[in-house]
Amino acid sequence: MSDLHIRTTGQAGHITLTRPKALNALSHDMCLAIEQAIDAWRTDDSVALVILDAEGEKAFCAGGDIAQMYRSGIAGNPDFARTFWREEYRLNAKLAEYPKPIVSFLQGFTMGGGVGLGGHVSHRIVGDTSKIAMPEVSIGFIPDVGGTYRLAKAPGRLGEYLGLTAHRMTAGDAIHAGFADLYIPEDAWPTLKTTLSETGQTDALTQAAQTPPASALADQQSQIDALFAGETLTDVINLLRHGTSDFAAETLATLEKLSPLSMAMTLEMIHRLRGPSLDIRKALELEYRVSHRIMEHGDFLEGIRAAIIDKDKTPHWRHTLDNLPSVAVSKMLMPLGKDTLDFKESSMNIAFIGLGNMGAPMAANLAKAGHTVTGFDVAGTTAEGVAMADTAAKAVADAAVVITMLPNGQILRDVAADIIPHMAKGAVLLDCSTVDVDAARAVAELCTQSGLLALDAPVSGGIGGAAGGTLTFMVGGSGDAFAIGKPLFDIMGQKAVHCGASGNGQAAKICNNMILGVTMIATCEAFSLADKLGLSREAMFDVVSTSSGYSWSMNAYCPAPGVGPQSPADNDYKPGFAADLMLKDLRLSQQAAEAADADTPMGEAACELYRQFVEAEDGKGRDFSAMLPRLAARKRGE
Ligand code: NAD
Repeated sequence: MSDLHIRTTGQAGHITLTRPKALNALSHDMCLAIEQAIDAWRTDDSVALVILDAEGEKAFCAGGDIAQMYRSGIAGNPDFARTFWREEYRLNAKLAEYPKPIVSFLQGFTMGGGVGLGGHVSHRIVGDTSKIAMPEVSIGFIPDVGGTYRLAKAPGRLGEYLGLTAHRMTAGDAIHAGFADLYIPEDAWPTLKTTLSETGQTDALTQAAQTPPASALADQQSQIDALFAGETLTDVINLLRHGTSDFAAETLATLEKLSPLSMAMTLEMIHRLRGPSLDIRKALELEYRVSHRIMEHGDFLEGIRAAIIDKDKTPHWRHTLDNLPSVAVSKMLMPLGKDTLDFKESSMNIAFIGLGNMGAPMAANLAKAGHTVTGFDVAGTTAEGVAMADTAAKAVADAAVVITMLPNGQILRDVAADIIPHMAKGAVLLDCSTVDVDAARAVAELCTQSGLLALDAPVSGGIGGAAGGTLTFMVGGSGDAFAIGKPLFDIMGQKAVHCGASGNGQAAKICNNMILGVTMIATCEAFSLADKLGLSREAMFDVVSTSSGYSWSMNAYCPAPGVGPQSPADNDYKPGFAADLMLKDLRLSQQAAEAADADTPMGEAACELYRQFVEAEDGKGRDFSAMLPRLAARKRGE
């Protein structure tokens, strides 16, 4: 993925964040990719340690991608952020508990999500540019990603101070507070990374480490301990109000701007966690109680609005410092019951409408991956691991994502009109059928009007790809909807390309299949001509598959039996990809070409040939590569 560079160099697994323009902000996809990499390296004997670093001088990672969360929260879909948090916290725990050394290089800003990523690992390196903070209270949230674990372990009352003020620590401060291990001047980092890769040992780190610069926080420790000794936020505010030092006055001025509910929760969490039984999972589980509720009951959306959306920097918090009922804090920290963070791969409620040749194996793969899938098909078909509903409306009622895999655009329009009123606000309607661009855009428009997200995601790869989970998805729709669909594409397929706005997935699909139809006919024509010129099919394949006439139709799906890789030609042209479906796709391409006033003479000719083959000859029910025996049996002009 372009936001990360994951590779092994020598004996090191190496993960580099490559989003410097966004200060390497951590997205949901990045979390999943990092998790996948460290999971694979855990048992890989050729990987002795992991290096975690980032491009750019300004930041290792300035936090999580909160704009994405904001948009889904405002759209009334708290599930996107909840899933992101659950998966991010699972990654945070795995990084903290990893059995091999992980070395993080924390230049510039390392805040929030960046601390979760690089702040719990075994070797945390800081330099002169390092600025480390847990700034969540300033956006109406709480220090999460294991931040409360670090804060509860910090000396004296430093954790309370750092969590409530969002104070930025220097390298010396971070080592004093337990957020970093070693100070090493940054110009030595590139050579050190090479040594780590070459040796697979961490000894070079301690050899290169220098005495950290003095910590201002360490000097202020006794004042902090006195001023933050209170049990509740009210106690702390009173201590600050009665304080006589400049430090007390400045700190009070800072707290007066931040979310009172967030600060009170942070204080309570640190107090609950501090003690001998503390571990990172306990902290993350407590944090998730707040994350799960924060969109609906906290200051989070308002905090992000004021900080990064409207940028007016005047958030209207729910409470004031002097008017915060303690019950507001305890309600947010109550156990979550069935929603408790369990660190397992997360499961989503998915509805699947259309369990035919393609839909049934796709739905079964989602169920196998641990998702709860409810299905519906008018023909009464089922799929392994999928619970069946009596009606489409019942199937979609609790679903965060509704997938459709239907025969054509009209059926899609009918099904969408039926289910949209029953879908939960903020849910995603993900259509994987091949349909006309107009139908895809009309359904997306209906979804938008009803507060839903929409994706058109037709597939390539056929029944084999559906069963094997190796489909390619061509996806149209918003970036937010794509982010929700991405983990599902990863289960059902091997690749998902975001092609742009709604309808663009279908546009990509029909353009691709127009090429496929044309090249298949061209390949069959060439074989037929070669036959008549006395050239063997084997020789034709050997030449063309390695010359400029090569194509997928020739190299991967050769229409000549007994030549090239196994294909439907070797199975008496049983589909495979039926000629009827190719005709459907070519018609869609010509319909779109007409609407867009595009000149597509080859697509038009291919469409007419397949029409004749399917409607007037023996093409119906045969593979689309059966165009070869058809052409080979004919004379010129027939
Ligand atoms: P299919 O005919 O096997 O499956 C379609 C299913 O939809 C059927 O089970 C049918 O009963 C069900 N259905 C029809 N109307 C319905 C309704 N109103 N409510 C609920 N269910 C309904 O077709 P398929 O091969 O699975 O293809 C599905 C889509 O995938 C098509 O758009 C096709 O073009 C596309 N596609 C197919 C292939 C392939 O190789 N088969 C490859 C790529 C794309």
